[in-house]
Amino acid sequence: MLGVCIGRSGSVEHREFPEPKLKNGHVRLRVHLAGICATDLQLLAGYKVAHSSSGMILGHEFIGTIDAIHGSEAGGEYAVGDRVVSEINCLGPGVHSCGGWRERAQDPARTALGIFGADGCFADFVCVPIKNLHKVPDSVPDTDAVFTEPLAAACSILEEVRIRATDKIAVLGAGRLGTLIAGVLSAGLFDVTVLVKDPARAAHVEKVAAERHVPIVDVASVGKDAFDCVVDATGHPLGFQRALEVCKPRGTVVLKSTYAPGNRQQTEIDMSLIVVKELHVVGSRCGPFSTALRLLEERRVWPSFLIDSTFALANVREAFAVAATHGRLKILLRPGR
Ligand SMILES: [Zn+2]
Repeated sequence: MLGVCIGRSGSVEHREFPEPKLKNGHVRLRVHLAGICATDLQLLAGYKVAHSSSGMILGHEFIGTIDAIHGSEAGGEYAVGDRVVSEINCLGPGVHSCGGWRERAQDPARTALGIFGADGCFADFVCVPIKNLHKVPDSVPDTDAVFTEPLAAACSILEEVRIRATDKIAVLGAGRLGTLIAGVLSAGLFDVTVLVKDPARAAHVEKVAAERHVPIVDVASVGKDAFDCVVDATGHPLGFQRALEVCKPRGTVVLKSTYAPGNRQQTEIDMSLIVVKELHVVGSRCGPFSTALRLLEERRVWPSFLIDSTFALANVREAFAVAATHGRLKILLRPGR
């Protein structure tokens, strides 16, 4: 089958791989659509380099159909042909807890699809633990369901931060994740403002919710101490500094970005702001797939408008180049040449 990995030269490439063999407790999925996310671009830039340079198949955001089920799981909740999405964190060997996404996300022996220790979904087929699966409601098209993983990451904010009805929330950054976060928070009827460097290039945020007003504001025009909660989804360490500045004293700053080592050193952050303003800083990564799928089923978010273009796996280099271009939105990959 065709799969995508980081080649010896350090650039992304497609290659022939053997079809993955089913392990105990696993299913094999035929991939319909997969999304390139900032983490994939960071892997290319050197994030988790020891893993990603080993020929591991990349990719963790996808929708697919169950193609085969290991005998140990036959007759259970899932059947061949079910349309599903999969959480990305896989419990380490010997860990049999049925704990939810939080436990999977912090299991020290875990692997993560397409990020470290487990082949991902930029391929014709991918094997995942059956425990990681969620059925996709029939009414949710592939083009929305492919966003379940980043949408779940956006939903995690509502579980990790106590937001009061009167709070003013800022989302820093109007990229793929920032737009999803603005959509989820405005679906919860919170007072959300999106802060960007160039409002003219963030018009897509208006599609977040036609009937909800989500202002898009030039970040340079915002004074200090303006928001109760600030979510940094800029994908750049500078975003953290800006978030500390615009957050009110005793407010909460949520960090959603991971960076390759080269990027981490670019900015000096004034840590004393955290102390003086007595800020809460929350690191946030994965989230609840079940909440994301419910939002999709109830049409409270409709992320397919974020799709920029779709490439065949064989054109993955071009797809990554476009995904890395500033201002471009979601780039999808589909199996085949
Ligand atoms: Zn991702």
